[in-house]
Amino acid sequence: MSKVICPKCDHAIDFDATQYKVGQALVFECEHCRKSFTIRIGEGDDDIQTEDFGHVVVIENTFCYKQVIPLCEGDNMLGRYNKGTVISHPIETNDPSMDRRHCIINVKKGYNGELTYTIRDNQSVTGTFVMNRILGNRERLLIEDGAIITLGATTLILHTPEGE
Ligand SMILES: [Zn+2]
Repeated sequence: MSKVICPKCDHAIDFDATQYKVGQALVFECEHCRKSFTIRIGEGDDDIQTEDFGHVVVIENTFCYKQVIPLCEGDNMLGRYNKGTVISHPIETNDPSMDRRHCIINVKKGYNGELTYTIRDNQSVTGTFVMNRILGNRERLLIEDGAIITLGATTLILHTPEGE
């Protein structure tokens, strides 16, 4: 068994690292403080890097309950969960106006460890809105902590580690 230390409250979480491949990213939710974070499996047994790339909160509505979706480094494809459609960040919802592959949030780490977030639409039927403005066809919009994203009838809010 390996231990992962929660980056927020230092609570230790046990898990079996041998089940996973080197370089694989895993999402945890701390059972103590409910913080969501991502870890990456390193080369050695005890080489586990805790990384927090922020998360989006899906606001509860008629179609879905509240969900916290941790983000990973690189592209995060968001869309309506559908059995048979494999995407990195499915949202469990019945919202028919949300595509199965609706939009992509990219998380990029700079030289000093600073994180930048960009969002782009994935040719969705209803479009991707940020702060009530629809994204253009090839537009990549820089977003920050607190950004309000609308996919169909569903609202998401970006939370970055810096914003906490
Ligand atoms: Zn915690």
